[in-house]
Amino acid sequence: MNKIRTRIAPSPTGLFHIGTARTALFNYLFAKKHKGDFILRIEDTNKQRSEKKYEKDILNNLDWLGLKYDEIYYQSKRKEIHKKYLKQLLDSGHAYKDEIIWFKNPNKKIVFNDLVRGDIEFDSSLFGDFSIAKSLDEPLYNLAVVVDDHEMNISHVIRGEDHISNTPKQILIYQALGFDIPKYAHVPLILGPDKSKLSKRHGTVSMSDYRREGYLPEALINFMALLGWNPGDDKEMFSLKKLIKEFSLDKVQKSAAIFNIDKLNWFNNQYIKNTPSKELAKLIKLKHPKLEKIIDIEKERINKLTEIEIGFYSKLPKYDSSLLKWKDMKKLEIKESLEKSYHILCDVKDFNEKSLKDILIKNTEDDKGRLLWPLRVALSGKKNSPSPFEIGEVLGKQETLKRIKKAIDKV
Ligand code: GLU
Repeated sequence: MNKIRTRIAPSPTGLFHIGTARTALFNYLFAKKHKGDFILRIEDTNKQRSEKKYEKDILNNLDWLGLKYDEIYYQSKRKEIHKKYLKQLLDSGHAYKDEIIWFKNPNKKIVFNDLVRGDIEFDSSLFGDFSIAKSLDEPLYNLAVVVDDHEMNISHVIRGEDHISNTPKQILIYQALGFDIPKYAHVPLILGPDKSKLSKRHGTVSMSDYRREGYLPEALINFMALLGWNPGDDKEMFSLKKLIKEFSLDKVQKSAAIFNIDKLNWFNNQYIKNTPSKELAKLIKLKHPKLEKIIDIEKERINKLTEIEIGFYSKLPKYDSSLLKWKDMKKLEIKESLEKSYHILCDVKDFNEKSLKDILIKNTEDDKGRLLWPLRVALSGKKNSPSPFEIGEVLGKQETLKRIKKAIDKV
């Protein structure tokens, strides 16, 4: 069998979309599973709409996701090749010139076997002649895509289902040029929860935005793999390496893939929890001498890296003294509770989460909240926060005692 070669062919006319990223992933997985090549072709023939910044966005995000391509091409640099084949079509009578260049439809039945959807049949007489170039130097999508896929020895065209209607036109061009037709796999579209095509309306769709919001590439890879593919059992955690082993086109579903942000958040939380805090610290722009410890504390409960808060660790927020009250504690009791914590902590030498927990718990009564709630609020100034032991370690002894004093004065 010839070498498996797949490609993605994005147009640099907008930010790299999660739908394109998912198609890239499927192409990458299929190629790598079969020890083949994954090719990137930037379809930048539309000069008005193509922009350099979008091209960069494609490259950056493929790199970030770890989807390494083996070759890269720019369609705009291939005009001479397109021209050669346009001339061939004109000379052989398969195309004719009007204002633009038209492909002469032979009006016939076209059947192709789609690796996801099975046999698909078209009657080409239903769509008539169609344009393939504005001029010899300005090829249009259907012509350029056929010529490039042929010249690049693409064995499998794996792309979104929205391209099914282009396929019969492309097959006619293949036949007219005497090229072998590649295998096709049209993958389901990604829809929003309301079953309409996924768009900005549903939330974030661009890879760069996901990245900025604090999603990890491993989480997006795992999440996107399951948008239209499933392993046939209930396994859900997949690294890129594992996906290469397990992926197959016959497990790609025909029905649409529904985008579920909660699922993505769940995956991201899983990957954040399983990544060493030291690694995460490098991805976070925040500065704090105890950043790693803060990440240790926060990473269990966050869905995105941007949810990591260092605010109250750096500076005690203003809070209302009523927050210090646990259940029906009276003012005097709150004060006594805080004073007790103060005295206990004054004697702690090695100020870390474990030592603080041991000593404080030892000094609590049946209702632990009587000691720990006022202390926690004194340290965080917040209704919800991590435990006073964790915060205490980050703050250190001096700042911890200072904050308790402040609370005592407030009551
Ligand atoms: N440039 C086309 C697109 O962005 C490529 C379609 C294809 O894969 O054939 O949708």
